[in-house]
Amino acid sequence: KARVLTTATASGRPFSATPAQHGPVNVRNWIGGELRESQASEYIDVTNPATQEVISRVPQTTAAEFDHAVENAQEAFLSWRNVALPQRQRVMFRLQELIRQHTDELAANITLEQGKTLADAKGDVFRGLEVVEYASGLARDMMGELVENVATGLDTYSIRQPLGVCAGICPFNFPAMVPLWMLPVAITAGNSFILKPSEKDPGAAMMLAELCQEAGLPKGVLNIVHGTNDTVNRICDHPDIKAISFVGSDGAGRYIYERGGKHGKRVQANMGAKNHAIIMPDANRESTINALAGAAFGAAGQRCMAISAAVFVGGMDSWKQGLKSKAEALKVTAGHEEGADVGPLISPESKTRVEGLIQSGVDQGAELVLDGRGVEVAGYQSGNFVGPSILNKVKAEMDCYHSEIFGPVLVCLEADTLDEAIEIVNDEQHGNGTAIFTQSGAAARKFQNEIDVGMVGINVPIPVPLPFFSFTGWRGSFAGDLPMYGKQGCTFFTRTKTVTANWKSTDDQAGMRAPGLDS
Ligand code: NAD
Repeated sequence: KARVLTTATASGRPFSATPAQHGPVNVRNWIGGELRESQASEYIDVTNPATQEVISRVPQTTAAEFDHAVENAQEAFLSWRNVALPQRQRVMFRLQELIRQHTDELAANITLEQGKTLADAKGDVFRGLEVVEYASGLARDMMGELVENVATGLDTYSIRQPLGVCAGICPFNFPAMVPLWMLPVAITAGNSFILKPSEKDPGAAMMLAELCQEAGLPKGVLNIVHGTNDTVNRICDHPDIKAISFVGSDGAGRYIYERGGKHGKRVQANMGAKNHAIIMPDANRESTINALAGAAFGAAGQRCMAISAAVFVGGMDSWKQGLKSKAEALKVTAGHEEGADVGPLISPESKTRVEGLIQSGVDQGAELVLDGRGVEVAGYQSGNFVGPSILNKVKAEMDCYHSEIFGPVLVCLEADTLDEAIEIVNDEQHGNGTAIFTQSGAAARKFQNEIDVGMVGINVPIPVPLPFFSFTGWRGSFAGDLPMYGKQGCTFFTRTKTVTANWKSTDDQAGMRAPGLDS
């Protein structure tokens, strides 16, 4: 049995949802391989979304503490970059094993702080683990290129070198997966890293830092600083930070992309989404309904790849009852409860916003097929619960359509043809993921070719690419050039040096002879 992680104990109580015995604990920063209590004057409460109980408190890291973290990272970088690449990969191999051993602890913490079901929380860890697996063989994507004889006797070759100190800024919805989208690739490529977890659920990142250290990562290569806007601004502004990986909402992403860019940093920003499914009349009934319900309401709709809009070609009528029945049958309760399908939303503000958007749909003329507002959850009266909800006859100009709801709400639109459906999807500003459900290869191929979205599913509702590919959101869902993980993620965290070398042999071959042969 894996031992209990000390960082987790220090950041709260990840192991059960029973009331705290000693009240909330201050989450500490992780700097130079040690937990450090912040001298912050301000703290943010981390709450259990199913109960509102305060689990821990996250510091607004001070400027001096932040600078100290960057100094540690900079110093660690100078030696880490020259640690043999196979040795860096071995740290990832050991990290894989440790994450497997501690998956239950990580998942319990995620459920406690974020609210998702334990099954979803294990998925959160597992999808991150897959990036660690990818990084364990990063050498393949670190390879450079060589052209012999660019002039006679002259060779040119390119090598990939790490950037220096890189930083990651994370959202609340995948507290393990998103840090693991970033740091395994950055670190294995030879960089050091500053991670700012979401202030809403920092526990999993803290546990991962401890596991990295146990896996053999030298102190200072990974550092965690907590906070909100001030910490983010410091990341954008600090001259020793060379690159920023961001995942979160549109507003924060655009801001960080601009502010980081102004300071000469490369930035990759994964942002919001409105992922559409197109349902053709020939789609398989049962599997399509199951896929839609899982993708729209699973993880309470708080996935950047959730299907939040469905376009029914030929109308929704023949699908309505089946989808409604499936959605109604999902069990809404605290994430650690037996049989839970839909957990709470992250905060009371989020619940109010989602309920307001459902109401706006009704007010603006949509048909409320299923209303999840006011759902009663026995034993969790103060949780942030909204049940699965379905709005039909939604139009592009409605608020429930052009806002990212980020809750268990499926907005449904109708189209007469596939062309019309594709136009609807391509007119929406985001371009993260999309899916088509059909039994026609020709329809699927047309969709794949014409859709202006970066990740496409064909009878697959949530087409998140495995880490040997990259996570390729487009348009409003992404700012930057190179996406996260996979070969392109490796390119993001490295830069190309091109060397031209002249080792032509001359008449004087003396340099090639062993000393003493002339005598
Ligand atoms: P968020 O933007 O509120 O927060 C993300 C991070 O940015 C946090 O660490 C936060 O402290 C920081 N931040 C927030 N506002 C800021 C500001 N004004 N200035 C500086 N920093 C700021 O996002 P969230 O609510 O935590 O996460 C949900 C969002 O993330 C959704 O929009 C979802 O679609 C998106 N998301 C996208 C992807 C993707 O890959 N495209 C993946 C997961 C989540």
